[in-house]
Amino acid sequence: MTITIMKFGGSCLKDAGSFKKTLSAIKKFKNDKLVLVCSALNGVTNYLLETSLEIENRTYKPEERLAFLRNRHIELAKNVISNKKFLEQCIKFIENSLERLQNTLYGVYEIGSTTRSTDFILSFGERLSTYILYEFLQSNNFKAEYKSADKFIYTNIEYKNQLPLFEKSKEAILEEFKESIKDRICVVTGYISRNIRGNVTTLGRGGSDLTATILGYSLKDLDTDIKIILWKDVPGLLTANPKVENKARLIKTISFEEAREMAYFGSKVLHPLCIIPAQKAGIPIELRNINDQNSEMFTTIGNFRRGPETHKLHPVKAITSSNAAMITVSGEAMVSLPGTAARIFNVMGDNNINVIMISQSSSENNITFLVEDKENEISKAKTALENSEFFGKKFFDIKIDDNVSLIAVVGPMAYIPGIAGKLFSLMGENKINIRAIAQGSSELNISFVIDRDQCQKAIKIIHEGFELYKEN
Ligand code: ASP
Ligand code: MG
Repeated sequence: MTITIMKFGGSCLKDAGSFKKTLSAIKKFKNDKLVLVCSALNGVTNYLLETSLEIENRTYKPEERLAFLRNRHIELAKNVISNKKFLEQCIKFIENSLERLQNTLYGVYEIGSTTRSTDFILSFGERLSTYILYEFLQSNNFKAEYKSADKFIYTNIEYKNQLPLFEKSKEAILEEFKESIKDRICVVTGYISRNIRGNVTTLGRGGSDLTATILGYSLKDLDTDIKIILWKDVPGLLTANPKVENKARLIKTISFEEAREMAYFGSKVLHPLCIIPAQKAGIPIELRNINDQNSEMFTTIGNFRRGPETHKLHPVKAITSSNAAMITVSGEAMVSLPGTAARIFNVMGDNNINVIMISQSSSENNITFLVEDKENEISKAKTALENSEFFGKKFFDIKIDDNVSLIAVVGPMAYIPGIAGKLFSLMGENKINIRAIAQGSSELNISFVIDRDQCQKAIKIIHEGFELYKEN
C-alpha cells in the first residue's frame, strides 16, 4: 500500500469552499495510508509575528490582539465542522490554545521577547489550523489523529535559524507513526519542531513543506512506495514569474538538483531546504494546484535522467530574480591580506544577515556580495560593516548600491557548452550592463547582477532567447 503525504498550504484552508476542495483531494487518495500536513491559515503567521512585536512594544494588550485569532478560527470551525460534538471539541481546543498563547504574550508584555518566545508564539498558527482540519475529517467520518510535530521533528538548539536533525527526527517519527498510520489519517502540524532540550522551535518561513519531506524521508522505512504532494493555489514551478513574463510556462518535470537551485534563488513556491530530505530518500515531490485537482499540469520534482540528449531543447529551465543590494568592500589593504573575506562574512553571520551571492576577482582589490532587499537586511549590513572594528577604519571603502537585481538562470547547462556565452551576448546586444557574475560549480545556475530597472526586460529577453515558452 502506498503512503501518501500531502501538505496543504494556508490557501487550501481558508473557508468552507477551500475545505471542500481539500476534502476532495483527500478522498482521491483515501485508499492510501495518508499523512496530512497543514500550514497556518493565510496571514496568521504574519499576524502572530506582528503580535509578538506589538506586545513587546506594549502598543496593545494580549487580549486585544487575540480577539481576531479567536474569531477567525472559531468562525471557520463553525463553517466547516457539521457534527456538534466535534465542533465543541474543536472550539474547546481553540480556547485552550489561545489561553496558553495569552499567558505567553503576558510574559512578553512584562519582560520582552526572546527568539525562543517568538518561535513558541509562531507555532500557534499551525496548531489551530491543523486541529480544525482534524475535527473536520472526523465529522466527515474519517478515522483521524491529530499530531503536533513538536513531539517528533527535532532541530538544533539555536532559535530562528534552526536546522532539522534528520536522523533523530526519523527515529521519533517512526515510533510515533508506526501504529497509527495503519488505520487512520494522521493530521500533522507543519512548520513546528522542537530542539533537543524540548523547547518549541520552527523550521523557518514556509517550513510546512519541509515538515512534509522530513516525514517522507522517515516513513520510507515503513513502505518504499511513498509520495509527497504539496497542494498550493498555483500550478507548480514556472519558467519565470508570470507577472513579469506572460509567456511563462509550467515546468512539468525538474530534477531535485535544479529545483534546489530554484528554491534558493527566489522562487517563493518552495522552502529552500525541503528538497533535501526527499532527494536523500529518492521520493518524488509533486506540486499541485488545489483549484485544478484533475489537471495533468503540475510539477514533479524527482530523479530525472540528465544528459546532453535530454536537455538539448531546454538547457535553461527557469529564470528567477530577487531585488537586492550589492555591497562592495575595497581597499589597498585587502590585496594579499588573508582573512578579509572571512572577516566580512563573519560580520554578516554574526548579525544574522543572509548573503545571496559573492564575487571576488583575482586582483583582490575588492569583494562584492549581495544581500536581499527585505526585512532591513540592507541597512543592517551597512551598519554592521561600518560599526565593525576592522572595516569601520579608514583602510576600507564600503559602497552599497541598493538598486540592483540578482538574476539566476537555472538549468542543466553543464551538458551543453555555450550557454553562458549566449546568455551574456543576449544581454550585451540589448545593452544590459552586467555588474557582477557568479557561477556555482554545480553548473546548474548562472547568477548575475544588473540595474533593477532593467530586470523585467532582461527576464523577457532570456525567456525568449532560450525559447522557454516551448513545451518540453
Ligand atoms: N505558516 C508558516 C509560514 O507562513 C509556515 C508555512 O506556511 O509553511 O511561514
Ligand atoms: Mg505559508
